[in-house]
Amino acid sequence: MNTHDELIARIEAGERLGREEGEALYDLDLLTLGQLASQIRERRYGRKSFFNVNRHINPTNVCKDICKFCAYSASRKNPNQYTMSHEEILTIADEAVKRGAKEVHIVSAHNPEVGLEWYLGAFRKIKEAHPGLHIKALTAAEVNFLAESNGLSYDEMIDLMIESGVDSMPGGGAEIFDEEIRDYICKGKVSSDDWLLIHRKWHERGRESNATMLFGHVEKRAHRIDHMLRLRDLQDETGGFNAFIPLVYQRHNNFLKVEEFPTAQEILKTYAIARILLDNIPHIKAYWATSTVGLALLAQEFGADDLDGTIQRESIQSAAGAPSAEGLPLEEFIALIRNSGFIPVERDSLYNELRIYDEGAAA
Ligand code: SF4
Repeated sequence: MNTHDELIARIEAGERLGREEGEALYDLDLLTLGQLASQIRERRYGRKSFFNVNRHINPTNVCKDICKFCAYSASRKNPNQYTMSHEEILTIADEAVKRGAKEVHIVSAHNPEVGLEWYLGAFRKIKEAHPGLHIKALTAAEVNFLAESNGLSYDEMIDLMIESGVDSMPGGGAEIFDEEIRDYICKGKVSSDDWLLIHRKWHERGRESNATMLFGHVEKRAHRIDHMLRLRDLQDETGGFNAFIPLVYQRHNNFLKVEEFPTAQEILKTYAIARILLDNIPHIKAYWATSTVGLALLAQEFGADDLDGTIQRESIQSAAGAPSAEGLPLEEFIALIRNSGFIPVERDSLYNELRIYDEGAAA
């Protein structure tokens, strides 16, 4: 038996893979990887593909940080600063609820001018107006920024988030954990250890979160494997991550010099490897805003079981070239999943199934 066959046999036997084996997965051909990842996905979820009806809100683009990959921050190439008032944020949430949204996903830049109450007060107002609306808000990078700039510990920040109505944390700000790459692409942002610590503390409160990985820029495959394994280690201890979300690097309007962009094959391999390696994180999300809708649909055959949501509007990835500015209508989203051979399942933010759109049940 050669090394590839041994690797395949170990995956089929459900064995956990280590760092070297994780890196060796990239040497398998795409279709083999897809098949292996699909088997795992199908065992867990059959042909179900999850999505939620959500609204992304990005309330400010004014940022004290200078991540090289960022096209969103107003202090760099984007001269159009904006900061929403609470009333504007609430109006967006009101409209989202009218359109059926079950979740608002609120992430912002690190605005040094507005103060803690601007961030937290918005959550309280949304919760008062819509007690049933799930608030997913504040990445670990934002938590770190707000804690540092207000002289608070992470525990104190988490207390305030919970008191203000935050239900779960998004997975942003993880980028790539390797310290050297991180230093190059987003120096000054929350450290990898602190990103993990904040999520650990959040999970220890019985709360759930997601985890992202920004890939396809200057990192190597080994850095992606390292990133996934650091998450797997934390998940072994806390069990609080719902989904892993590989984010494909968007190339426009930023300061990161990237020689070679990832091919569709490399992106699909990365989804499949995530499904195989992350045996303790339930869901692998193909976030169509960064991968394109077509590739996200294809990723369902490579281990991804979640396509995020309708989004309704998005400003961060679209500033860097992603086609997500206006979101996707619900009917179109459902039809796209169906036409790709999967069963659309509307879920809530914590992956409880709300509606299965099997044939005949579609509105
Ligand atoms: S990625 Fe976030 S923290 Fe970094 S510059 Fe952009 S808005 Fe600021």
